[in-house]
Amino acid sequence: MEDSFYSRELERLAAEGNLRSLTPLEHTGCEVVAAGRKLLNLSSNDYLGLGADRNLRAEFLSSVNQEEFFMSSSSSRLLSGDFPVYEEVESMLAGMFGKEAALVFNSGYHMNLGILPAVAGKDTLIVADKLVHASIIDGIRLSGADFYRFRHNDLDRVENILRQSSGKYRQIIIVVESVYSMDGDRADLKRICSLKRMYGNVAVYVDEAHAFGVLGSHGLGLAEEQGCIGDIDWICGTFGKALGSVGGFTVCSRVMRDFLVNRMRPLIFSTALPPASMMWTRFLLNRMSGMAPLRKHLSEISEKLRDALKRSGYPLLSDTHIIPMLVGRSDKAVEIAGRFRENGFFVLPVRPPTVPEGSARLRFALTANMSCDDIGTLIRFIGTSAL
Ligand code: PMP
Repeated sequence: MEDSFYSRELERLAAEGNLRSLTPLEHTGCEVVAAGRKLLNLSSNDYLGLGADRNLRAEFLSSVNQEEFFMSSSSSRLLSGDFPVYEEVESMLAGMFGKEAALVFNSGYHMNLGILPAVAGKDTLIVADKLVHASIIDGIRLSGADFYRFRHNDLDRVENILRQSSGKYRQIIIVVESVYSMDGDRADLKRICSLKRMYGNVAVYVDEAHAFGVLGSHGLGLAEEQGCIGDIDWICGTFGKALGSVGGFTVCSRVMRDFLVNRMRPLIFSTALPPASMMWTRFLLNRMSGMAPLRKHLSEISEKLRDALKRSGYPLLSDTHIIPMLVGRSDKAVEIAGRFRENGFFVLPVRPPTVPEGSARLRFALTANMSCDDIGTLIRFIGTSAL
């Protein structure tokens, strides 16, 4: 194989400040150890701090029944891999959301890659927010459906599209995230659902990856907070972020679950998650409703950091625990991230193609195991250094 093409591409990425690399890190609580130094981890999706919680882990391990503690499912659920714990987690989820059914997937990526191609084809129009996650874009492309991406959160545009196109397709699916992973702002799910109700053939798909566990009084997400769970056809989420586990899920109708079991390729053709992971998920889901104090603390420290960035003159997009500091050019983002790192903060630059050209940023993701002092130190650094 001729490697020079790939080397040149890597050199080009490096020259643009867009080269990525893997960094092995040890984890302790809300800190990581990089090159022998402890840094506050501002780049984790462990929003409630559950993944890092040693006591919780110990409690779980002491509670496991060794007989069902399989480290591999050894096949797809459609073969012999459908261990009882998957169905248990699914009925727990359906009950928590008050929906008919739920289905669990190997990851949030599988979920978004698989659901849309299963349910949408040439007879469907997918109307998706411009900022939806790469996994959703890949799912849309695989579906072969017509699609339109509307300006971020521009629901007037969605209203127009529905008016113009609802007669031309079997169905229109509106696809949004509830909390956007790079801007940390929210969708107006209530309005989206009221648009849906104006037509008989419009469905709503919401990815709650960054809100599940964090928002809503029981931690179910933004749909819970906005009171519109019942109107959303697919509420999707991941266990790999706030829940501190791994996997993806959707809550939906019973018919839809049965349909996905028959048609969703990443579910059918991939070895299911280890039952041991699902047992950890079940253990955490059982406690999620009671984690309101963690959600409250996360919300309070997030507000402090957002206020501080606003005071320092950064344009504020976020109203959640995901707080971007916009700097513009990729090389500048890399340089500033380096300065944070020298001062004890692990924060990564987010650059194109993850975000649009010219909007490179540092993305602070706060977690509930950070103390007010941790955030105070970060705020002082932002306020006193000429970044
Ligand atoms: N959806 C969104 C909005 C995401 O941000 C991500 C991951 N960053 C995913 C889905 C994928 O989830 P997972 O990590 O479980 O594959």
